[in-house]
Amino acid sequence: MQISGHIEHQFREVFPSVIALLLALALLFHSPLATAQESPSAPSGDAQRATEDLNKSAPAAAPSKSEQTTESLPAALKVEEVAPGVFVHQGRYELFTPRNSGDTSNNGFIIGKDAVAVIDTGGSARVGAALLAAIRARTSLPIKYVINTHMHPDHVFGNVAFKAESPTFVGNAKLPRALSSRADRYLAINKELLGDSFAGTEIIPPTELVSNRLEIDLGDRKLLLEAHPTAHTDNDLTVLDEKTGTLFLGDLLFSRHTPALDGSIRGWLALIDKLANRQDVKLAVPGHGPASMPWPSALDAEKRYLSTVAGDVRRMIKEGKTLSEAAGTAGMSEKDAWILFNEYHARNVSAAFAELEWE
Ligand SMILES: [Zn+2]
Repeated sequence: MQISGHIEHQFREVFPSVIALLLALALLFHSPLATAQESPSAPSGDAQRATEDLNKSAPAAAPSKSEQTTESLPAALKVEEVAPGVFVHQGRYELFTPRNSGDTSNNGFIIGKDAVAVIDTGGSARVGAALLAAIRARTSLPIKYVINTHMHPDHVFGNVAFKAESPTFVGNAKLPRALSSRADRYLAINKELLGDSFAGTEIIPPTELVSNRLEIDLGDRKLLLEAHPTAHTDNDLTVLDEKTGTLFLGDLLFSRHTPALDGSIRGWLALIDKLANRQDVKLAVPGHGPASMPWPSALDAEKRYLSTVAGDVRRMIKEGKTLSEAAGTAGMSEKDAWILFNEYHARNVSAAFAELEWE
């Protein structure tokens, strides 16, 4: 997810003690400044304005505890074989920092008889290189495909590390435009957040585009790639390993990590219901969460979260409440169920409000 990171957020990264002091003062004087530090994302258009409004008037909230690790990135990512020939690296439940190098989302690879497909590449060239090292520790087969599940930097910024392998880069047909329109902002913000560990990172857009479905073959192993209507973003893509029934959902599935809404809450809820009925899936790989999860119960917590946010926001709109009134209360019953809640939830409420206001 890591929608990209905010200016305010960068300052929090760069001057943590100054911000901590300001935050304490803000809390002391009930100033709205505190929540201006919260959202790590930089939404665009209406959502951006909605978030700015929210930040001006929402009540202060304490920063949540993420499960910060102190380890820096290893030369080869640790991966788990979740099904025969299907490997997943579990990213950290953190925002981008120089120490984690942008290793905050799940990525993986599938080994066929003739070739390898990579699914998402991490948040920097460095994470991509460590994923490549993990692959090369297991197989010397050619990497024929690098597939991106959606546009967010923590899933695509490692693509550059695979360039020398000459794979076909594959994504949703809407992904190239989504990336090019955000490229400057994504690069600038994440360079700031990652510091030296951003070195060598550039955006490599897909050239093989999926507007509906595409089947690719790795040699005795077919993968079904499917583009979906707007949900987490407008360019979500899932990858099904038909051999094992393992479905890589990208950020259509969050577990433990607070979901991040950058598309449509109505679309996302509708897609969850549609996906939950699929009989060809046995195992789910979330974009953020454990390396794998049982199907279809994997979707339950996320569905509950999104339904709660949508239900609360709809009710408050009906009662004539404003966005800032909704911000402090909508979905707050979910607070203890998720990591990085304060970093993402307020923005989700404002995005949902902007969408549902026009129902
Ligand atoms: Zn995402």
